[in-house]
Amino acid sequence: MEGSNELSNHASGRAIDLNAPAHPMGKPNTFSAPQRKAIRKILDFCEGVVRHGVDYYSGRKDDMHFEIDKGASEVARIARKIRGLSAPRPPSTPKPPAQPAKVVVDGKLGAATIRRWQQVMGTPVDGKISEVSSLVKAVQRLLRSKGHKITEDAGASELTGVGVVR
Ligand SMILES: [Zn+2]
Repeated sequence: MEGSNELSNHASGRAIDLNAPAHPMGKPNTFSAPQRKAIRKILDFCEGVVRHGVDYYSGRKDDMHFEIDKGASEVARIARKIRGLSAPRPPSTPKPPAQPAKVVVDGKLGAATIRRWQQVMGTPVDGKISEVSSLVKAVQRLLRSKGHKITEDAGASELTGVGVVR
């Protein structure tokens, strides 16, 4: 039935008729199966705040009709949910370049020294020398490039005697 409710819902802006010529009242299944699926997804997302004319009119199809079926606070909640979907991600603030670690001349191979060393060598900076270390490899490559004969698989312990030469 074309009820006064529907008219007043349109009048108050709570209802829309979507593309009426393509989805005329009384004609069933004017939306394709994929469209119906998409509509169902949107209605589910709206958690009952929006309802579709096909769902609650008995005896008459009204494919074009969508209306708000809940109060203002529920509408506001779903509006926030929708905005959350499309909200642009906050721009990631670029990290300031890492300050060079302060190196103290104390003869100890501490994290600060290793970190700085890794920065200089252009390897990942974690302040640690792993058992198989990209820092040590970089040093070994550097030594080789300078004519020192050193194998790349020499361990960190051998590094202490830099110039572990074969
Ligand atoms: Zn309508």
